[in-house]
Amino acid sequence: MKILLHDLSDWIFPRICYHCGERLESGLMALCTLCRFYSYPLATRFPGILPEPISRVQPLWVFEKGGSLRRLIHAMKYGGLPQIGHELGECMGLQLLPDLFRDFQVDPWQVLLLPVPLHPKKEKKRGYNQANLLCEGIQRIHSVHVAPDGWIVRRRFTRTQTGLSLEKRTQNLDQAFDMVANLKETGFMTKTQFDAKIRRWIHREFTIPAPDLTQIKLILLVDDVFTTGATLFSLMKTLREGLDEVNLVQQRSEVIQFAGVTLAAGGW
Ligand SMILES: [Zn+2]
Repeated sequence: MKILLHDLSDWIFPRICYHCGERLESGLMALCTLCRFYSYPLATRFPGILPEPISRVQPLWVFEKGGSLRRLIHAMKYGGLPQIGHELGECMGLQLLPDLFRDFQVDPWQVLLLPVPLHPKKEKKRGYNQANLLCEGIQRIHSVHVAPDGWIVRRRFTRTQTGLSLEKRTQNLDQAFDMVANLKETGFMTKTQFDAKIRRWIHREFTIPAPDLTQIKLILLVDDVFTTGATLFSLMKTLREGLDEVNLVQQRSEVIQFAGVTLAAGGW
């Protein structure tokens, strides 16, 4: 019945591909199968200098003037259509992750995705965090882990970043993230207790085998748009400090690597 209604609404309001305008195959909402691979120009690696410890930022697509990519991302963020986020996450999983696995010499189960958190107020208003949707989409393609909800929270409600210089953006975002108390508390736990706690969180959320944090070799930050990098860098700083506090990184600094992936990048 659900499928029938779905088909009926599809017939009354045919959904079309955001890029080419062709009618979408049943079950798709964002891009047709062809445009998943051949639509927007692929981004190169972020050419700027990256702060420690992040070693690489890899967006999938680059914005084109007048292109439909902005409209698509807008629909994912504000359109109340989480499925678009899942589909775009699949695109990232298919086109970005295999290269990263190869270059960082890791297997999917050694990778922990960390969605950039929204301020809880914003997430409540929107109904979801688009970075989470992208991670869920990536998980449909690869058996990677996703950091448990609330691992890192956005503490301050930052004003919009648009129109600010990089320096101002960085100031604006300073202390915008906070390692959630849960992680800080773990500083008082033994490492075994800490790992057990993380394992319980992951188990609650996902059906793939729980990660043993000692097995994680790459922490991958996931966000929708990369502009100046201020958000990713601020989050990374917080993450590194938080992990240092629980001695996780010191114990294993030789094996944990940090990188970021985003769906799109501003004009570079
Ligand atoms: Zn298309």
